Amino acid sequence: MRKPIIAGNWKMNKTAEEAHAFIEAVKNKIPSNDNVDSVVGAPTLFLEKMVEDTKGTELKVAAQNSYFEDSGAFTGEVSPYALGELGVDYVILGHSERREYFHETDEDVNKKVHAVFRNGMTPIVCCGETLEQREAGETAEWIKGQITNALKDLTEGQVSNLVIAYEPIWAIGTGKSSSAEEADETCGVVRETVADLYNRAVSDAVRIQYGGSVKPENIAEYMAKDNIDGALVGGASLEPESFLKLLEAV
Ligand code: 13P
Repeated sequence: MRKPIIAGNWKMNKTAEEAHAFIEAVKNKIPSNDNVDSVVGAPTLFLEKMVEDTKGTELKVAAQNSYFEDSGAFTGEVSPYALGELGVDYVILGHSERREYFHETDEDVNKKVHAVFRNGMTPIVCCGETLEQREAGETAEWIKGQITNALKDLTEGQVSNLVIAYEPIWAIGTGKSSSAEEADETCGVVRETVADLYNRAVSDAVRIQYGGSVKPENIAEYMAKDNIDGALVGGASLEPESFLKLLEAV
């Protein structure tokens, strides 16, 4: 039985003060880790404070990106070694916004996945197709390719502990969510790809989230599906009340 995982992705929103106020508002209301993993993905600037603010609570902290080298002459980049030392638990990798605006490739994502595991954290690896690809019937092939490339040279143990977020690009921030059936079908493609690359035990263990216009009103429909183990949520994770409702729906 896979434990559900709900992760907020704040993207480039909030100040340090606003992040602190959010944590104060939710920290004593997070459901037990025995039932659901609750995660908030924050900008790098206030990760340290968030790790401190969430100590002793059921809420885990995610970074939204990391570089693939641990240290060195990479001006402006974020070290996965430093993130691990800080006490960050998860790192969101290969989000479609990073691929589109910052030109991240499948190869970069794969190197980052290795770097995050190497530093004791759990990657949340994103995949997803464009509207053109969906309309051309290319979704399954595209997703298989993205997953195959992202997981290159990972061990069975690593993939069993991985989180994969399926986020159709056309459903992100548009209010146009994928139907639960469509989302479940594509999350099934992700799971079958993992089974083909590894084996059934690994594909049964890997947790797969749906992301794209998830909100308190529709999250239960997704969570009811066999292949969907959680959600990666942008807009609806920004307000404490809405974030708590997402967790309660699990
Ligand atoms: P929205 O929930 O705002 O559509 O964003 C989804 C997303 O990109 C989460 O990573």
